[in-house]
Amino acid sequence: MADAFGFDIAVDGSRERGVAESTAGFLIQGSQDSCRACWACVRYCPARAIRVTSHHAEIIPERCVKCGACVSDCGNGGHAVRDDTLAVRELLETGRPVVAVLATEFVAALHPLAPADIERSVESLGFYAAESTLLGEEMVAAEYERSYARAGTPLTLRSTCPVAVEWVRRFRPSLAGALTPVVPPYIAQARLVRALYPKDVAVVYVSPCYARKDEIREEGIADAVDVAIDFTELKRLLATTRPRPVLGDRCGGDRRPEPLKEISLTDGFPRSTLTSRDKTDSEVVAVRGLRQLDRVLSAIERGEAAPTVLDMLNCDGCIDGPAVNPGLSVFAKRNIVTAERDARGRTSVRSRELIGHLPHIDLVRSFRPAPVFETVPSTEQIDAVLAEGGFASRDETLDCGACGYATCVDHAAAILHGRSRWEVCFPQERERMKTANELLEQTARSDALTDLVNRRGFDERLAQEVARSRRYGTPVALLMIDIDGFKTINDRFGHTFGDSALERVATALRGGVRQTDIAARYGGDEFGIILPGIGKTEAYAVAEKLRAAMSELRFDDLGAGVDGLRLTVSVGVSSLVGQTESPESLLELADGALYQAKQRGRDQVRIAAG
Ligand code: GH3
Ligand code: MG
Repeated sequence: MADAFGFDIAVDGSRERGVAESTAGFLIQGSQDSCRACWACVRYCPARAIRVTSHHAEIIPERCVKCGACVSDCGNGGHAVRDDTLAVRELLETGRPVVAVLATEFVAALHPLAPADIERSVESLGFYAAESTLLGEEMVAAEYERSYARAGTPLTLRSTCPVAVEWVRRFRPSLAGALTPVVPPYIAQARLVRALYPKDVAVVYVSPCYARKDEIREEGIADAVDVAIDFTELKRLLATTRPRPVLGDRCGGDRRPEPLKEISLTDGFPRSTLTSRDKTDSEVVAVRGLRQLDRVLSAIERGEAAPTVLDMLNCDGCIDGPAVNPGLSVFAKRNIVTAERDARGRTSVRSRELIGHLPHIDLVRSFRPAPVFETVPSTEQIDAVLAEGGFASRDETLDCGACGYATCVDHAAAILHGRSRWEVCFPQERERMKTANELLEQTARSDALTDLVNRRGFDERLAQEVARSRRYGTPVALLMIDIDGFKTINDRFGHTFGDSALERVATALRGGVRQTDIAARYGGDEFGIILPGIGKTEAYAVAEKLRAAMSELRFDDLGAGVDGLRLTVSVGVSSLVGQTESPESLLELADGALYQAKQRGRDQVRIAAG
């Protein structure tokens, strides 16, 4: 079984529908307060790592690759990233020398701060020094080149992107062994800092994305960085911390010359380097974005594509990372970097040359598969869930994708795994709302005890029938019927009996008139019957028939002591034929006639004058 992206879902059987894994302490958290239940995050999350609850969207840690799409794409702040600035403050308080290692995107990320100001500002927070990841990148690039030079590698998945790497480990675990076993550049840089700075140095890495904040704890690289924050957090620190004086005047008011960057890995691996090593274009495939990445990986798994090198990034280069000045387009950010580089205009030292003189740094790491297991639902289970959602068969399914899943069957599987709910199926929800509204409309116009049309419905129908009568010149009659001495019956036999008696009267009234007539409970023990197309004399006959039927009713089965009880009713009749009377006056006339019937001794029918 494969889900929306063709992920293999392994048979596991350990998870049951709706069982929620704990999200406490996870990097990204859904907020119950801010979530407006628009489910945009569900549609944007490439990993299907968002669970729809009855209140809000919740991250599923086991599936999340920490790309941050849910954070960026929610307009209501429905997802928040863990704040690690307190850990940085605590580290700075220890008195140890703390070096800030800034991802090379810092110029774009902290714009409009100039590079010289950035270094001074960072140091004024209490950092011992600020470094960029530039030399680390150069070292890792050289290591990649060495690994490509080795013969016999059938497939290399090259990525310094933690999100892309995590995708392979979780969703294409069979390919995890092809990931190039090289550390990311910032780890190389952090190790370099540890080698060159005082022994007790601590390292804070400032990252363009969120995933790095957790990556630093991974097996094989956890020695390098003490705390990782993203650029947004650094900005927050700069905005909320009182600057400390920078010791000495190490910058002399300007930034130290930075070596010329020969290779940037943050835009992916430079094609020029690869082609110069006899790799043709078809052998080197660059993919950006997880959806595209998964398509290529799945093609590789099926043997439809066989690149030698797959260069994988989630973003359009790290400068496009979620924490790099998210208000600016990637193009604007690239312009900022170009303008800064042009303005510097000084001869720079070549970084490739420099690394030859630096201490040896261990750059090797390994990747283990971390497959996401989910039970495979049976056909019967899927069909049962589809039926719950209102799809009687698979032929009826829509596959509109509005829920975030490509097909209704995929959505049903997600529901079975407790990730989604039918409420997010817009077409079905619309149908349900329509039915619910119709029911509500009907309920609002029916009497709860007798199920006849209630007063509200009666008023509406009377107005309609009077209008119709005026328009077509057809007659309409109205009977107002009130039970005689019902108060006494209630008093003698109890309210519950009274209710049952009212129900029986209502049933008899409805049964005693045509389908096209409208029988209503006007209130209490009073009923109204609208008789469209009928004149006064015929209406009188109907009224007499009903009056007689009422006296025939028996109530013996409704309780002890009611044997032989008879009910009588009084009826007032009114009618109109194309006259100018309003519904209200028709009602008044019938009421007046009813009053007369009561006055004259009850158990009789009176016709209104006129
Ligand atoms: P009359 O012949 O003048 O109509 O005498 P009556 O006792 O029927 O007087 P009236 O119609 O004014 O009183 C109606 C009574 O119907 C009042 C109340 O006790 C009873 N009643 C109204 N609604 C309900 C109901 O929902 N259930 C029950 N059991 N009794 C009701
Ligand atoms: Mg009465």
